[in-house]
Amino acid sequence: MRSVYETTTEIRVGDTVSVLSGKDAGKRGSVERLVAPGKVVVTGLNIAKKHQKPRQKMANGSQAPTVEPGGIIEIAMPLALAKVAVVCPKCDRPIRLKAGRTADGKKQRLCGRCGTVIGGKKEAAK
Ligand SMILES: [Zn+2]
Repeated sequence: MRSVYETTTEIRVGDTVSVLSGKDAGKRGSVERLVAPGKVVVTGLNIAKKHQKPRQKMANGSQAPTVEPGGIIEIAMPLALAKVAVVCPKCDRPIRLKAGRTADGKKQRLCGRCGTVIGGKKEAAK
């Protein structure tokens, strides 16, 4: 499925990205999902600790409530797109994406430095 956040030169789910600024600067991770507006969730990065109280929940069709354990839950918070850059597998450094076209006219993403085609989930799925 194509979303409004998914344009040719933008970050895609599954991309390896490097964090440029903030507390996780220099770290790398894989894009988990794209969130609006202009933010991405990167697996294992920008972790926030959430203090969760134990909760009682009634399961559907069951008489006894189940208890959700409390504690500290770690969740990945969205990062602004401006704070991350896609890592080129060839240059092994954060790069700027460049739009390009294949021989048969399809759009593709290229490394702004070396011109290597940066794949995405779409290509991998074929
Ligand atoms: Zn490159």
